[in-house]
Amino acid sequence: MWLSLFPPICLGCGVLLRHDLPLALCSRCRPRQARLPPSLAEDLRIRAVWTYEGPLARAVVALKFNGALALAGPLGRLLADDPRLVEDPEGQPIELVVPTPLHWRRRLARGFDQSEELARWALRHANARHGWAPALGRRVLTRARATRPQTELDAPARERNVEGAFVVKRPELVRDRRVLVLDDVTTTGATTRACMRALDEAGAASVSALTLLRAV
Ligand SMILES: [Zn+2]
Repeated sequence: MWLSLFPPICLGCGVLLRHDLPLALCSRCRPRQARLPPSLAEDLRIRAVWTYEGPLARAVVALKFNGALALAGPLGRLLADDPRLVEDPEGQPIELVVPTPLHWRRRLARGFDQSEELARWALRHANARHGWAPALGRRVLTRARATRPQTELDAPARERNVEGAFVVKRPELVRDRRVLVLDDVTTTGATTRACMRALDEAGAASVSALTLLRAV
């Protein structure tokens, strides 16, 4: 079965795990990973699961900047562990998952889009678990312009930097659908909220958001 193509490895240090654990961390790395306190997990209209530090932060950095695509599977599974991947905050089924897009120039340079890879794997795991999954909305949302990396900016500047940066390219897929924006990391939530606004304006029935990690 293709879901078990990769042997289970620790996301923190890469050791082979003897068992396929729900959270793919070995006994040494597991205590170094903090779950977000409930107040932050539901903050800013964005659901996040883990803090952006420790072994999972290193795994996301390795995926993004070192092209460690083998990590997308186990990281995607962590997203599938959260019920909000398939249900909106009102408990209604999500119909379309839209990854936060990279600008095409950055995507070309990197060779892949990490949010899209995470979304693809998360939905595969969801499908294996529930027997169904929302559709993956590839190229539904695009970056209309390149933006400065958010890490260089303070919170108000982050909001301005991404204001109007996202355009819904395929509104017919969004209209009257319950849509989930999916991203790897959020800090102030500015990028995620800009995506949510664009989808909302395109006529989505509901727009919620899920990110794997939140910087605190
Ligand atoms: Zn480890």
